[in-house]
Amino acid sequence: MTTHENITFAELGLSLQMLASLEKKGFEKPSAIQEQVIPLLLNWDKNVIGQAATGTGKTAAFGIPLLETLLHESHPQALIMVPTRELAIQVAEEINSLQADLKNKLSIVSIYGGQSYDIQLRALKKWVDIVVGTPWRIIDHLHRKTLKLQEISYMILDEADEMLNMGFVDDIEEIFKQTNEDKKVLLFSATMPKVILNVAKKYMGDYQLVSVQTTQMTTTQTTQIYFEVRESDKFEALCRIIDIESDFYWIVFCKTKLDCDFVTTKLNERGYQAQGLHGDVQQKQRERILKSFKDRKVKILVATDVAARGIDVNDISHVINYSLPQDTESYVHRVGRTGRAGKTGKAITFVTPQEYRKIVLIQKVTKTDIQKGSIPSTDEIMQARRLKLKADIDSVLAGQKYQQYSEVANYLLENFTPEAVVAALLKLNYQDGLTPDSFKQINEVSIDTTGTSRLFIALGRKGGYTPRSLVDFIQTEAGVSPRDIDDVRVMEDFSFVTVPFADAEVILHVFAKQNKGGRSLVSKAKDKTPQLRAGRDSDGGSRGGYSSRGGRDGRWDRSFWASRAWGSQRSFSGGNRSDDRGFRREDKASSYGRGENAKRGQGRRR
Ligand code: ADP
Ligand code: MG
Repeated sequence: MTTHENITFAELGLSLQMLASLEKKGFEKPSAIQEQVIPLLLNWDKNVIGQAATGTGKTAAFGIPLLETLLHESHPQALIMVPTRELAIQVAEEINSLQADLKNKLSIVSIYGGQSYDIQLRALKKWVDIVVGTPWRIIDHLHRKTLKLQEISYMILDEADEMLNMGFVDDIEEIFKQTNEDKKVLLFSATMPKVILNVAKKYMGDYQLVSVQTTQMTTTQTTQIYFEVRESDKFEALCRIIDIESDFYWIVFCKTKLDCDFVTTKLNERGYQAQGLHGDVQQKQRERILKSFKDRKVKILVATDVAARGIDVNDISHVINYSLPQDTESYVHRVGRTGRAGKTGKAITFVTPQEYRKIVLIQKVTKTDIQKGSIPSTDEIMQARRLKLKADIDSVLAGQKYQQYSEVANYLLENFTPEAVVAALLKLNYQDGLTPDSFKQINEVSIDTTGTSRLFIALGRKGGYTPRSLVDFIQTEAGVSPRDIDDVRVMEDFSFVTVPFADAEVILHVFAKQNKGGRSLVSKAKDKTPQLRAGRDSDGGSRGGYSSRGGRDGRWDRSFWASRAWGSQRSFSGGNRSDDRGFRREDKASSYGRGENAKRGQGRRR
């Protein structure tokens, strides 16, 4: 929660009753998005788009003005659309809690799939001022004519990016058609992809955009670490991290439902209490899971992005990216779950050797420093577990409850040595959990970060480019320093440059959306190269095995483009690698006679 230094809620022009409510709620100062959106909505007749990261108080940014401007009437006056059931409940609760001290309270109802129509019908039959709902259920009620939206003052799309991700565009359109023209339209979102602006253009006419930069939100309160770990070692690594961190309240993010189930099940098998949350979990179950997590009965929540979206749980101590998020913005999002409200937090990201370039990109784009960490060793964990054991025993000894076992204890001590008894009890209780045998081996991975990438750029001499102007262009568009751009070759229709690994990712990211003649403006050079090279270089895919071969891509491409007569080309400048290649081709050429080939191989060895 970033709040502005000086501005107070009072200065935003809120009523005394509202100020009292906010005080009760514990809000001291408006957040950046609230500070900008609230006055806009109170004083100007404008449609507003608000963008700010998760957890920055967007609900109150529109909730407070609703409560300040609407009067209790006999028809719904505001419709808030949200992507999930949880959010419907949560947003309704949040807004409701903001009117604690208001004399004339508004009636707020949430409608969503999975809840019986009866309950919702009963609620809708009474006077309802604000409806919070998921698109499908809203449409259902519109069809049944149990909800009328012809006289609303506000239509609000909350978590708009997620609604679009979930494919609600058509539904939103249908709902729009059933509302009166003269409403205000507000759209809130954590991220602002282009499609949202398209939607906005279509429905919103004139609007004011309020955007709070996400970069400032990758919270300084959160330590960000990444671990290099193979896919198959991730689970073991997760357990070790959980073991070593004493105080924990975690969200573990997984990419798929399958991963989510796998991790949850395995954690429970290992004796860690965890609950999984994803799209297939039934509504009732979801509510139960969320409640037990919020009440801290369960301290590890394993979730997919969508399932965890918008769920407001405070004091998360750790966010673990068991799998990397889809994109940079989701990373910021996930990490934004911890380190809130001045608390410190930790975000840990698992990166497989293949994914290394993604974490590099995330660092560059978010301008944050994600430190490389090392997975706790077995020694460290043993130490941690022993300390915990000692602490647990101390606390049992501090109480007197253990005395109920005195008789058994005396019996055991009469028959065995004290050491044997204690050791046997530990074995009973922990199985092998306190010995090194209990650990699976984790393979060291070390990723080469010093490499370069060769990029293909669909701009060439025909377009008026020279090496000089191409470098300028890259510098202006992607902010890559000319010093880092090497081996520039401008051909008739296209060009090549070699840049450090991380810069390549930035360039690819910056130009991701740009096309020229149906293909992307910039791509990894390997796309242009023959099959023979596939899988052998330039991509993260084989990076792990190739540490210490800096600058290889450029060389390879140059050799290819220097001579299209691939087969006859032997004298690469690539030193030992061309030997390697040459040998293989020779091998292949004479593979008719296996025996001969083998013989020659032996000859070499001798
Ligand atoms: P968003 O929709 O941006 O993800 P929420 O509206 O869910 O964020 O708010 C996140 C949390 O911050 C909620 O618990 C909310 O009560 C709290 N919050 C909102 N505004 C403030 C404020 N001005 N001061 C303190 N806490 C706030
Ligand atoms: Mg929200």
